Amino acid sequence: MKASVGGYARASDLRHALELLSGSGGLGRVLAGGQSLIAAMNMRLSAGDLLVDISRVSDLSGVSDTGERLLIGALTRHVEIAGNPLIREHAPLLSRAVQYIAHAAIRNRGTIGGALAHADPAAEFPACILALGATLHIEGLHGRRDVAAEDFFQDIFETSIGEGEILTGISVPKAEAGEAHLIEEVARRSGDYALAGLCLVKRAAGHRVALFSVGPKPLLARTAMTALDRGDVEGAAKALHDELDPPSDTQASGAYRRHLAQVLLRRAVARIEGATA
Ligand SMILES: Cc1cc2nc3c(=O)[nH]c(=O)nc-3n(C[C@H](O)[C@H](O)[C@H](O)COP(=O)(O)OP(=O)(O)OC[C@H]3O[C@@H](n4cnc5c(N)ncnc54)[C@H](O)[C@@H]3O)c2cc1C
Repeated sequence: MKASVGGYARASDLRHALELLSGSGGLGRVLAGGQSLIAAMNMRLSAGDLLVDISRVSDLSGVSDTGERLLIGALTRHVEIAGNPLIREHAPLLSRAVQYIAHAAIRNRGTIGGALAHADPAAEFPACILALGATLHIEGLHGRRDVAAEDFFQDIFETSIGEGEILTGISVPKAEAGEAHLIEEVARRSGDYALAGLCLVKRAAGHRVALFSVGPKPLLARTAMTALDRGDVEGAAKALHDELDPPSDTQASGAYRRHLAQVLLRRAVARIEGATA
C-alpha cells in the first residue's frame, strides 16, 4: 500500500515551519526523519494532509555543552547520538540506547526529536530521558515552553506537544563523577522493539529507574527507586511487580513482561555493583 499525501512543504527555518503548521488549519504534520511517520502513512494508519518537512532546519540539529547540561537538537539523528563525544561522556545512557534501536538504515535517518514526539511506549529514548530527568523545549508561533520529561508523555503515542508546536530540543543534566548509566532490554530479535526494557541511573542523590514496553507510556518506577536508595534490591523488584500492569499482546503476556522487568532490574543493579566493586 502507498501513502495518501495531501501536500508537502519544506521549511527553511523554524519560524517558516511554525508558519506552515499554523496555516494548515490543524492538518499539518511535522516530518523529521520519516522513519515512523512515513511507515504509518504507508499503512494508512496516519494521514499526511500537509507534511511540513523540518529536516533541513539546521538550527535544530547537533549537541552543545551549556555548562551543567547538554542541549541536544531535536533533529539530531540516532547515529549521531551514538557517536557524539559530548553525549558519550556526559549522558552515556543515550549513546548506549542506540544499539537497541532498529537497524542501521533507520538509525541513519531517525531523529531523537521524532522518537520522543512519536512516543512509542516500546521505544528506548523516551525512557532514557525520564531516567535522566531531561527537559524538553517546545516552540510555537507564540513562544517557547519547557516541559519536564515526567510531564511530557501523556498516553500511547500522545505527548504534551500542542497543535502547531514543534519540539526543538532536549536538555539533559551532565553526569556527575561516579554516576552510573545502564540500559537493559529483552527483544525477540536484534533490532526488534523490546518486550520489556529498563534504564537505571545511579547518582549521588539517588537512583532513577524508568521502564519501557510495560504500559501505554514510559514509567518512572518511584517505589522501586526508593527501595534501591535503601540498598534493598529485592524490595525494589517487589515494588516493580506491584507498580507495573503491563498489557498482554501477540508478543508477550503481561505477566511475562512484569517478570522481565524484575529480571532486568536485578541484572542492571548487578552490573553496576560489578563495575564499581
Ligand atoms: C522497522 C522499524 C523498527 C524500529 N525499531 C525501533 C526500535 O527498536 N526502537 C525505537 O525507539 N524506535 C524504533 N523505530 C522508530 C525509529 O526510531 C524512528 O526513527 C523514530 O521513532 C521517529 O523518528 P523520525 O525522526 O523518523 O520521526 P518521523 O517519522 O519523521 O516523525 C514521527 C512522529 O513525530 C512527529 N515529529 C517528528 N519530529 C518532531 C518534532 N521535532 N516536533 C514535533 N513533532 C515531531 C511527526 O509529526 C510524527 O508524528 C523503528 C522504526 C521502524 C520503521
